Parts: sequence; C-alpha cells; structure tokens
Amino acid sequence: MKNFSRKGAKTQSNSVKFESSFGSLRLCGRNILFVAILLISSALFIAPASSSSASYDLVIINGRVIDPESRTDAVRNLGISNGTIKEISNDKLTGRTVIDARGLVVSPGFIDLHQHGQDEENYRFKAMDGVTTALELEVGTGDVDAWYAQREGKSLINYGVSAGHLAARMAAMHEPVTFLPTGEAARRSATDAEIADMKQRIEDGLKRGAIAVGFGIQYTPNASRWEILEMFRVAARYGASCHVHMRHAGVKEPGSSIQALEELIAAATITGAPLHVVHIHSTGGPATPKLLQMIGEAKSRGLDVTTECYPYIAGMTDIKSAIFDEGWQEVFNIDYKDLQWAATGERLTKETFEKYRKTGGMVAVFSMTEEIVNAAIKSPLTMIASDGILERGKGHPRTAGTYSRVLGNYVRDQGALTLIEALTKMTLMPAQRLERRVPSMKNKGRIRVGADADLTIFDARSITDKATFQDPAQYAEGIKFVMVNGVLIVKDGQLQSDLHPGRAVRATKNF
Ligand SMILES: [Zn+2]
Repeated sequence: MKNFSRKGAKTQSNSVKFESSFGSLRLCGRNILFVAILLISSALFIAPASSSSASYDLVIINGRVIDPESRTDAVRNLGISNGTIKEISNDKLTGRTVIDARGLVVSPGFIDLHQHGQDEENYRFKAMDGVTTALELEVGTGDVDAWYAQREGKSLINYGVSAGHLAARMAAMHEPVTFLPTGEAARRSATDAEIADMKQRIEDGLKRGAIAVGFGIQYTPNASRWEILEMFRVAARYGASCHVHMRHAGVKEPGSSIQALEELIAAATITGAPLHVVHIHSTGGPATPKLLQMIGEAKSRGLDVTTECYPYIAGMTDIKSAIFDEGWQEVFNIDYKDLQWAATGERLTKETFEKYRKTGGMVAVFSMTEEIVNAAIKSPLTMIASDGILERGKGHPRTAGTYSRVLGNYVRDQGALTLIEALTKMTLMPAQRLERRVPSMKNKGRIRVGADADLTIFDARSITDKATFQDPAQYAEGIKFVMVNGVLIVKDGQLQSDLHPGRAVRATKNF
C-alpha cells in the first residue's frame, strides 16, 4: 500500500493516485471495492516478475567487454532494459534473454561518420559489419526534414545526415539536386546572390536538425575560397562540424592536397567551425603522412580538427564528376588501367573511359598503396569511416567490409594496431566528434551505465571481410551479435528480418 501517493490523497480529497508498474490510475473513493479487486489481480499478475530483484530484458554474460572511454578490457556481464545499459557487473545477472558471449569481444556498436548508402540494402551490410549508427555527413542532403521522414520507423540501424553544400549549390543554381553535381554547379563560380542563397539553405538545414555541414569541394572546383568560408561561418554559429572532401588531391603543386588542407585549417581558424577531413588517404595519396602531421600540429595549437580513413587502396566516385576533368592522371599519378568500372568489374581503356564518361556511373580508382593505407590506419588521429554505398549489390567493398577488415587484417593479422586502439577509432572518437552539436552522442560509442544499448559482439579470432571489388555485396564474417537500441538485429551471426529499431541521430540543441 505504500504506493498510494500521499500528496495525491491530500490535494485531491476524493481521489488517490495509485502508482503501479502499469502506470498511474486515478481512483474515486466510492469505488474502493473495485480498487481492492484491481490491487489483488494486479499483485497476482506481477508476481512472477517480482520474484527476482534485478531482472533485465536481456543480459550478456561472460563476454570480454572493451570500452574505450573507461579503458575497460575485462570479462563482465551486462544488464540491458528498455534499450539502455543498466548494469555492468562481475555478478551473475538474470534476464528474459541471455547471450553467452564467452570467447567473444563485446564492443560499443560501430559509428560510421561517412556512409552514403542510406537504405535497407545498405543498412543490412552495415549491420553485418558491426555498424549500429550510419551517418551521411560528407555529401549530406538539401532537404533535412524529408530525409529523416523517409527513414523514421523503417530503419534497421541508427541514421543521420548533414546539410550539404553540394545540394545547396545545385539548388541555388536552379539545377535538379542529384547526389554529385555534373552540370553548372560542378563547373562555374557562384554569384554573391547564389552564395547568400546557399548560406540560407545550409542554415535552414541546421535549424531542422542536420548534425553537421558536408562539403565535396573537389566536385565544385570553381567554388571560391570565400564561398567555402561563408559556409564555415554558418556551421560555426550552430556548433556544426564541417565534413570536407578537400579541394585538391595528391602532391602536385600548385593545387596539392597540402594546399587544400591549408585552406581548410585556415577556414576553421578564421570561423571557429570544427573541421573533419574525410578519407584523408584517398585524397592525400603519397602526401598522407604530411597531411596527418599538419592535422596533429593544428590540433596541438588548440584547433578542433579530426580526420578519417578506410582500409582499401582504391576509392570510388562518379566518372562524370569534375574529379575526372582534364589532368586527372597527373593529379592521382594513375592511368586508365587503374580505373575499374563498378558495374562490370572491367579495367578501363581510353575508349571505354570516354564512353562511360558520357553516361556516368561509379568507378573504382586504384590510386593508393598499402603503405599509404597503413600509415593512415595506424595514426592515432584517424577514425575509421567507410564512405560506403551499394546499389543493387554494386559498389565498393568498403560498404560491407570496412570494420571487419580493420579488425581482421590490420589488428589481428598485421598487428598494425591494438584491438582497443581500433575500437576507439570506430566508437568513441566518432561519437565525440559530434557531441558538441548533438549531446545525445554522449550515450553512444561507450559501454557505460545509462548509455544506449548499441552493441557489437564479435569473434576477434575469426572476424574477416568478404566483400571484394569483383563482388562487393558479401557480408563480413565473425560479427556474432549486433544490438540497436536494445534490439538484436544480428543473432548467432544471422541477420534478423523485419526489425526497425534504428532511430534518428538529429540535433535538437538551439544555438
Ligand atoms: Zn569523398
């Protein structure tokens, strides 16, 4: 009877408030008999559950729990209820569902800051690679409300998007908004009025909860430095990080990736916007170690600058984009044979390059060496992010294999970095990148009481990427269980169907 609220009884003379595990009921004094019957039946109904003092929806026992924030690396049991981690303990825990994770690593779910493919097909491959949150932050969108509305209640994993400069530029130049610009927005400079229009569009996107601002400056080579600065100014006002594909690639001066990074470090310094440089190795090529040095130095002076990479020696982009304008061979130090047409897997020639350039489509660009990839992955500055997109099974293997490839090839087989170092790059660092604008990210990327129950449980001895450039739509192996907001979407290595526990990652903070 202690559940009768005294306050309720006092302030409302002929009614009391009864709080039970079923919520609260307001009861009239004259219905005391009914109350008594209700209480008895309630007590009988809840009896089985009340026999255990701490029973959870789900418990994970005997797993090797690795949490990069607390530096925990030990066997622990986890208690999970209502989509949240409730207990981390050495003690035996009880729950309706029990996962015995003996011999497996229990990690925060992986957070991918750079995933273009944002549909059911892509989410399935991400889930099987251990990703619980996939964010489209480089290209972004021009219509934030519509983007989130399309995925609400229909997503396997958590999702989120940036306000995109590319989309704003296409709209300001009255072009249809496509993934990457290929018309005027790709090629000409903007008027002052168009720059003002783009600023307004980015600001609208941020007001609607976009979590960052995205840029692909190499796709808009005639966007002036002033135009980029103006967009950074808007981002700074909203505490939004700028996720930037740099203006130039490679080492050739003028127009090297070093010069491109100088532009961005200057823009971040002038405006105060946080800077995140995407796929540093595929843009930097042989200059990658120098770019990483520059980022480290800028950070040591207090600048908020971060970066990311993926574990492959080829990038991928649209053959129709401005990246393949005159002079691309010299920029990337490659030739036609280093391009692979994604749809068929064929290597290109001058003739096929010219043919496909007219129609457009995805092409893999083999412009990096294993040394470059290794330098990027080993650096403590880089996060792991996939840059993934699959369309009807075609695309780049990074979509389905990025995380398992780092954990299998680079951690286990090569010993290039430790397990906790790799997991830090996949969980804690990407969560921290977004916390200033999206405080709810403080509950992701961690195994902590109160954190979201987004978890990835894998076998460190067997984890392996299976996706290849010939056949990119291959699930990774070794990811045994994946949980999104407390719901198991991968069980015993099998993807579960018809589940949509993914939630929007969206900014709600007013600046
Ligand atoms: Zn890019």
